[in-house]
Amino acid sequence: MARYREATWLPIPENTAQPRITPTQLILHSAAAPWSPERLRDFWNERGVTTESHFGVGYDGAVGQFVDTNVRADANASANNRAISVESAANTQNSDPWTSGQLDTLVDIMVWAHRTHGIPARVCRSDTDPGFGTHRMFRKWSLSGTECPGNARAKQFTDTLFPRFLGALGDDFVPVGPTVALENLKYGVTNADVADLQRSLIERGEEIPAGVTGYYGDQTRAAVASFQRKQGWTGSDADGIPGIETCRRLGLTVA
Ligand SMILES: [Zn+2]
Repeated sequence: MARYREATWLPIPENTAQPRITPTQLILHSAAAPWSPERLRDFWNERGVTTESHFGVGYDGAVGQFVDTNVRADANASANNRAISVESAANTQNSDPWTSGQLDTLVDIMVWAHRTHGIPARVCRSDTDPGFGTHRMFRKWSLSGTECPGNARAKQFTDTLFPRFLGALGDDFVPVGPTVALENLKYGVTNADVADLQRSLIERGEEIPAGVTGYYGDQTRAAVASFQRKQGWTGSDADGIPGIETCRRLGLTVA
């Protein structure tokens, strides 16, 4: 049994009818409807609706839980047997950004899922890779393709939500990626640790036009600086050269 304590418990029939799962992913959605958790619950209960999520987050950040997270919910196509799904109120085009109340709640749910189910604090690298993602990220996560949760929220996920989640984990966050040495991550060098750094930056939505080259040039420095600014850092903390905390938030273990 896994229920999020801050959520209003709004169980739907699937909670007892569906098989048990051990979740390894969390996938974020937009509902294309401006609904409260209670209205979402009613929608799931309407005849023929079979795309239920575990959670629903209203515009004000209020959260309801419809299905225990150790029970399957069916919003994620091929990932249904491994993913926690989180719906959120949106306009009917899924074009508006998450509100500040929604962002606060989503950070809290992500931290809870990390601590409760051990979902690793990284962005999913494939449709089966453990971690966090948005519905549109992999084609296999939808039956017929989807833009959900919309452009504005997909950008927020990369720029705001995921960095805030990592910050909220604080010292609890255990890196799950490769091990690097800081002395190998310097401007002008070429080595395998730089390649790991580049891979991690690209996975988190940073742009390195030349791709994973192992060479630490201007593109890599700009990508590191961009990632550092998204952590809320300025000045020498956002100079494009990674220290221990930058590596940690990129999922890299420092040797
Ligand atoms: Zn969706």
